[in-house]
Amino acid sequence: MPRLKRGAASLITRLVGLSLLLLLVVQIAGFGVVRQSIEANARRQVARELDIAEHVWERMLAQKVEQLRDSATLLAADYGFRSAINSGDVETVQSVLENHGSRIGSTVTAFLDPQFKVTASSLADEHMGLDQRLIADLPAYLSRNPTGAPLIVIQGVPHQFVMVPMRAPLIIGWVLMGFPVSQDLGKEMGLLLQVDVVLVTQSEGQRRLAFSTTTPEVTQRALTHADGAELSGGSELVLARHVPMKSRNGEVETILLRSAEEVLAPYRRLQWLLALISGGGLLLVALGSSLVARRITTPLRDLLLATQRLAVGEYQAPIAHLERRDEIGNLARAFDHMRVDIDQQQSEIRHLAYWDRLTGLPNRERFREALEQAIRDNTPLARPLAVVSLDLDRFKHVNDVLGYAFGDRLLQAVAGRLQNLVTQPGDLVARRGGNEFAVLLQGCDAQAALEFTQRIARAFEVPLAFDDQTIDLSAGMGVACWPADADNADLLLSRSEIAMYTAKRKLSGALLYDAAFDSASGQMLSLLTEMRRAVEHNELRLFLQPKVSLPGGEVLAAEALVRWQHPQRGLVPPMEFIPFAEQTGFVRQLTLWMFEAATRLIAGLPEPLAGLRISINLSTRDLLDPELSTRLGTLLQRHGVRPERFCLEITESAIMDDPQRAETMLNRLSEQGFKLSIDDFGTGYSSLAYLKRLPVDELKIDKSFVMGMEKDEDDAKIVRSTIDLAHNLGLSVVAEGVESAAIMERLGQLQCDEAQGYHISRPLPAEAFLTWCAQQTAATATAA
Ligand code: C2E
Ligand code: CA
Ligand code: CA
Repeated sequence: MPRLKRGAASLITRLVGLSLLLLLVVQIAGFGVVRQSIEANARRQVARELDIAEHVWERMLAQKVEQLRDSATLLAADYGFRSAINSGDVETVQSVLENHGSRIGSTVTAFLDPQFKVTASSLADEHMGLDQRLIADLPAYLSRNPTGAPLIVIQGVPHQFVMVPMRAPLIIGWVLMGFPVSQDLGKEMGLLLQVDVVLVTQSEGQRRLAFSTTTPEVTQRALTHADGAELSGGSELVLARHVPMKSRNGEVETILLRSAEEVLAPYRRLQWLLALISGGGLLLVALGSSLVARRITTPLRDLLLATQRLAVGEYQAPIAHLERRDEIGNLARAFDHMRVDIDQQQSEIRHLAYWDRLTGLPNRERFREALEQAIRDNTPLARPLAVVSLDLDRFKHVNDVLGYAFGDRLLQAVAGRLQNLVTQPGDLVARRGGNEFAVLLQGCDAQAALEFTQRIARAFEVPLAFDDQTIDLSAGMGVACWPADADNADLLLSRSEIAMYTAKRKLSGALLYDAAFDSASGQMLSLLTEMRRAVEHNELRLFLQPKVSLPGGEVLAAEALVRWQHPQRGLVPPMEFIPFAEQTGFVRQLTLWMFEAATRLIAGLPEPLAGLRISINLSTRDLLDPELSTRLGTLLQRHGVRPERFCLEITESAIMDDPQRAETMLNRLSEQGFKLSIDDFGTGYSSLAYLKRLPVDELKIDKSFVMGMEKDEDDAKIVRSTIDLAHNLGLSVVAEGVESAAIMERLGQLQCDEAQGYHISRPLPAEAFLTWCAQQTAATATAA
């Protein structure tokens, strides 16, 4: 069942995968939004801190200037210094300036006369000379702005300058001091506010780094992103603030740098925690949804298995998960209903397939299976068993005459009687279809089976009575035994049937199967092919048996009788192939052949026989052929022979097979001009009252009565009363089977109209018949 597993697994995977994916999308979106807002927040915070840092930086620079100014004021008030000035002691002034300058860390300390001419300076001459131009207008500027502290870039380093007057009380000179903006100041910023400082100058077309408190890498980034608020490129986020400062020569810019990482760090930890929680959530969802999916797919798989069981016809096990109160439960219950329904339908179908509705008996199929089972069961015990096949006589007749409802009741009654006879466990009665029944008798040999058929015959002796109708029951029965007659069920059945058909043909009640029956039925098969060939190869012969008038012996008519000149078997008598030709329907072709032959004969008859009438035998099949009268009509027309020249012989049983259709056809034939004769009269069941309705011209008393007349008084009485009755009904009477002169004479006395029989002549080939007729006429003429 690999298909099932893959299907179920994929459903789980899809369910779990989808919910995980959705969750992941939500989490990532959330994560992104949080991160975004954290960063924006951090940026804002850092920007605020940089605002403060900018302010502080400016304040620090201003403070530095104040310090410088205080220091310069202190120097200007120094007594020693003042006296050195007054005395013009340049060397002392020089040394004081140097000492003071180095003490407070100024790079430039100078004394200027009231006209701003440098009197003494702490710097070397050439150094000062270098900056002479620079310093030139500075004192004038500072004297105008006593609180100002202009920046001047000296050798790439920005310097702050202050100048204070020396008064006595008039201004006697100026003290000028200049400090570099140093890295220490930057470091102080770092200590105070965690801000790094990068100081850059631009003078004489040269951009130079004054100092930097941060790493060379960050410094480099700060320099390259001269105007950005954010330093890109590095691993950490650094925000920058560019603070431009006024300078007398060139540009000075302070870049304040603040790393956002510190601000972000706690959020980053939070984010990691969030990610961890999300991961855990995902895991839980995966577990949970796969559990839910399993709760769905497991029952689905069970249901699938259940449908597969149903598909192979297992309806017994109830479906699982019926108790669940959810959709799965609903589905399971629906499936279970289906299972129960199908089971019911199946057993109904089984019943229909195995039981006969009308009689409630097992049917042909069920009987066959039971027989097979019985053979299997009895094989180890070596116990014999027998099958009796039974076919009701005249059932079609009952159906036709009394109606199908009556026929059904008859079958039900027969089923009941048979069932009453079957009492042994394991024995079985079945209806094999139509009017055929079968009985299985276990532990029963041929003798016992034949005894059983006698019990059936006795049970049938009591006539059936429905409403005011009484029906005599009789049946043909065949017995075949296992293992004597056949070693398997099918053969056993067909042999019991062969025995039954033989019994029916021989009118002998019940027969035990005999291998000879089989060869007979085998011969029958090839017979049909042979008969067809007989017509094509002209192997059939027309024989004629004369009918003479009583008294007088005048030849008025002849009966046409068929013979088969078989290339190997010689002359085949009709009783060996007519019944078979009737069974197969071939008899219709045979009848046409006879008519054709008889018509030719009549058309070619010599003058003295011009009025001869020919009797032709019709079978049931002929009579039930709706085309019969038209066929005969065309045939006679073709040869220019009138229908009055023919008498059609029909047996009572042929009429009684389907009386209504027979009557219709007989009426048509009679209207066409054919004479009609009832053949073998006395052997059938028809009553004269019934025959009176038919357009019949002649009765032919069966030869069994005629031949028995001499010895059997009963036969003689039957013959006599038949002749009387026929005459009363206006019919002429023919006696067949007249084998002696005595009988012929007796028939004459009983006023029988015509006679036919070996005493007069055997059936003769057409030529011989004509010769016989000629002799006969000559003899009668001589006698006369
Ligand atoms: P059936 O119609 O009763 O024909 C009379 C039978 O009695 C003929 O037998 C005839 O040879 C025989 N028979 C005549 N006289 C005597 C006699 O004095 N004593 C005895 N013992 N028998 C006599 P056959 O020719 O063997 O025919 C047998 C049956 O075959 C006929 O009985 C008829 O039913 C059938 N049959 C013969 N030819 C035809 C035919 O062309 N078509 C049809 N449908 N049936 C035919
Ligand atoms: Ca006949
Ligand atoms: Ca006859």
